[in-house]
Amino acid sequence: MDAKQNLFFVPILLLLCFSTTFHFSSGADSISTYGSLSGDKTIISSGGNFQLGFFKPSNFSKYYIGIWFKKVSAQTVVWVANRERPVTDKYSSELKVVDGNLVLYEKGIEIWSTDTKLKSSSVVAVLLDEGNLVLRNGSSNTTVWQSWDYPSDTWLPGANLGYDKRANRTQVLTSWKNSEDPAHGSYTYELDPIGNQYLLRRNRSQEIWNSGAWDGQIFTNVPEMAIRFLFNFTYISNATGDYFIYLLVNSSSYITRFVMDYNGQIKQFSWLADEEKWSLIWAEPKTQCKVNAYCGANGVCNDMSSPFCNCLPGFKSRFQKSWTSGDYSGGCKRIMELECDKANTTRRKADIFQKYTCMKWPDNRQAISTENAAGCKSNCLSNISCTAYAYYENSCSTWDGDLFNMQQLSVNDTNCRVIFIRLHSSDSSNNNEGIISGIVGGSIAIVLVFSGLLLIVIRRHKSRKATKIERGAEGTMVAFGYKDLQTATKNFSEMLGKGGFGSVYKGTLPDSTVIAVKKLEGVSQGEKQFRNEISTIGNIQHVNLVHLRGFCSEGNKKLLVYEYASNGSLDSHLFNPKKDESLLPWTTRYEIALGTARGLVYLHEKCRDCIIHCDIKPENILLDSYMCPKVADFGLAKLVGRNFSRVLTTMRGTRGYLAPEWISGGAITAKADVYSFGMMLFEFVSGRRNSEQTRDGKVNFFPAIAANVIMGRGDILTILDPNLNQVADVEEVTNICRVACWCIQENEHVRPTMSQIVQILEGFLEVDMPPDSRGLQVFIDNEDDIVFFTDKSSSSSLHIQSNPTRG
Ligand code: ATP
Ligand code: MG
Repeated sequence: MDAKQNLFFVPILLLLCFSTTFHFSSGADSISTYGSLSGDKTIISSGGNFQLGFFKPSNFSKYYIGIWFKKVSAQTVVWVANRERPVTDKYSSELKVVDGNLVLYEKGIEIWSTDTKLKSSSVVAVLLDEGNLVLRNGSSNTTVWQSWDYPSDTWLPGANLGYDKRANRTQVLTSWKNSEDPAHGSYTYELDPIGNQYLLRRNRSQEIWNSGAWDGQIFTNVPEMAIRFLFNFTYISNATGDYFIYLLVNSSSYITRFVMDYNGQIKQFSWLADEEKWSLIWAEPKTQCKVNAYCGANGVCNDMSSPFCNCLPGFKSRFQKSWTSGDYSGGCKRIMELECDKANTTRRKADIFQKYTCMKWPDNRQAISTENAAGCKSNCLSNISCTAYAYYENSCSTWDGDLFNMQQLSVNDTNCRVIFIRLHSSDSSNNNEGIISGIVGGSIAIVLVFSGLLLIVIRRHKSRKATKIERGAEGTMVAFGYKDLQTATKNFSEMLGKGGFGSVYKGTLPDSTVIAVKKLEGVSQGEKQFRNEISTIGNIQHVNLVHLRGFCSEGNKKLLVYEYASNGSLDSHLFNPKKDESLLPWTTRYEIALGTARGLVYLHEKCRDCIIHCDIKPENILLDSYMCPKVADFGLAKLVGRNFSRVLTTMRGTRGYLAPEWISGGAITAKADVYSFGMMLFEFVSGRRNSEQTRDGKVNFFPAIAANVIMGRGDILTILDPNLNQVADVEEVTNICRVACWCIQENEHVRPTMSQIVQILEGFLEVDMPPDSRGLQVFIDNEDDIVFFTDKSSSSSLHIQSNPTRG
């Protein structure tokens, strides 16, 4: 090349250099041929939603090419290119388009490629605003490859997740190995090849959970799907493939993602911009310990502990490194292997059995016929492969080989059982609960006592420390110290409200999470029962239920720590909207009613033990930043103990929602909640309390008025909240009034169940004309009786409720 040619090429080279730099200055969304991405350079999608570049998980020394949310302050990676082959130096690595492929090189060696084999010089990689990286052939403007076809662990709105018929390829979400390692983990989430449902599996073979078939609206195992709320699911089956997509209804600011978590749960999160954190809005399996064999062989799962998995004493993790990084699937192995008796190879030496109380039994129980517990034990001892036995309700159960799915439970759990685990005779890990079949010498006993004491001291020290430690952000319960909550609430200075069981204060945890702290008054439960109830409530998670994050129990000081609902309670929106709050439109009211009903279905039917709320009213329906309803204060009845019904029946704010059986002394069933819910439904329609005095001093009992109208005596829109200016779906208003009338029937057997109500509100069930309720007729026929519901004295309330059949 002569000097003249050099003069000619230099400007071109400069131009090329300039254009390369241009591509990676902030705002560039693409990498073209000749361009490359290296070091700290990134590209950003055109609307600024996503960013692509090198990233390094916090405790890792190596780098990956990934896509993450640009508008989310906590870096959240949604896609990783080189999951199995990280690079060591991002500056000597580059991502570039070569021969129509997008390729990642480190020091010139190919690490990862899209493998598109499209020999074209006009291919460009563009990061789209939906989080999809596409490779486009510039000449024809066709998409030749896209990251959405090869998802990592995340499913974003708009992306297909199913089966691509043309490419004969399934899009599979595969969990990371652990929270730090993007390599392929054990759990996958994909469309079932034989049906329109999703499968969550381990190692693509063992089914952990399935969504149930798609019925056009919901997956049958996901009745709580908030389809009418924030996003729409659509099933598409055509020549190109079978897949689902979900699209946001109000996409402008809502950021959400489904993720196949490394812990085996499929989760949906939404980003709380105000609080700058991800909020878990849905997960399956519901709790960690429900993930089949999550703690591997001989591991014990505990939803209340952190970490969730522990090895039984006498066992240690099989793969220590994976175990400490949060991958428990390897399980636990014996510290001292069981030995065979040398004289008789079919018998074990005199082993010992360690007793465990309150365990969920492992899988594969065998029922053995023995006369008593001693027979059960000796049956196990004499069986070479028997590793555990239990004697419960006069029947003997034994287990062989490795034990899977053991779970530590709280004492009031119905699955709480005793089990005896076989250990080597000289295993020193047994504690004073263990039953020792060998002879233990006095000196050993003394050593044991001392080590036992030492253990207790250490445990106490640890547990004290634990109360100070905030556990994971995704919802395990925390035992707070009173002082911590004093600090968090600035000495209980910002009161959110006061109810029958105490006052609620706003607070902020050291990690900036905003909380609501309820200081309980008059708790009559003992400490143990209190903690058991707490553990039950804390385990309940549903998008429409307020999550209990933790508690404090120091002597008489009993406090509950809840997630904070930034839009407060429903009553303030419905009855006294503040100036800066917009009026709740009818559609939102309907959605709040539906969400609340779903939350109640969960409490009544889906929890391990049915929970009757007992105090449904607008004050206990909280609204999060998306106006998603969350039922508050469930489980309080058992927590508070004997004072509960007394407080409830004498409490002003609650009385108008109480079912007659509360006062008449009849048994309280889930139908009592149905009654209260019905009362509340009327208030969605009217926008005021059911029994409210008008300016001219007249008292209108709205349920009676509504009942009158739906019997065909008037236009439904005329009874609607006047603030709505008759803007509402007539069919929905009629439906709600009809359902409400059914709910407040005196005879609880006539009232619908909450799941029937959900089906009606979802449009799956039709609701008939309600019977002319005698209770309601009272108000229609006799205006004097209306007074009973507005009179604030408890005696008049008792009067009407104790004469429910009058009229
Ligand atoms: P009850 O004692 O029968 O539940 P209540 O709901 O009026 O009656 P509290 O539960 O003590 O009384 O709550 C008082 C108020 O505090 C609620 O009405 C609500 O406005 C507010 N509040 C309670 N919990 C939260 C929360 N988690 N987030 C935001 N506000 C809350
Ligand atoms: Mg409350």
